[in-house]
Order: sequence, then structure tokens, then C-alpha cells
Amino acid sequence: MSVAGKLALLKRTKCCAGKLRHPSEGKAQAHLRALARIDDRPMDVYRCRFCGHWHVGHAKYLKVD
Ligand SMILES: [Zn+2]
Repeated sequence: MSVAGKLALLKRTKCCAGKLRHPSEGKAQAHLRALARIDDRPMDVYRCRFCGHWHVGHAKYLKVD
């Protein structure tokens, strides 16, 4: 495997590890609203470029990519 391939695999693992995958933005938004009731930290939904599904994450992490 190439170095670039290994890096992509690491990023994918970091991105998706421990995260729920949602098939649509609507599903992710519904999950986000459910979470907001117990945790008011700023979070948002985003489409993952590695797995193609939607994840819920803290807003501060969205600025990195
Ligand atoms: Zn992902």
C-alpha cells in the first residue's frame, strides 16, 4: 500500500471511529436534535468524504478540513 493510501486509511479511521453513520442529512439532523437535549455544546452535521454517510460532530472540528 502506498503512503498516501495509508494516510487515507488513518484519516478514515479517525473520522468514522465511534461515529454513527446516517444515510441522509435529515437523519443526521434528527440525531443532532436528540443529542442537543442532553448536551448543548455546538454540534453540526456534515457529509463524510470517506464513507459518504452523514456524521454528527462538534462544530469546532468542522473547520479543520
Ligand atoms: Zn465517515
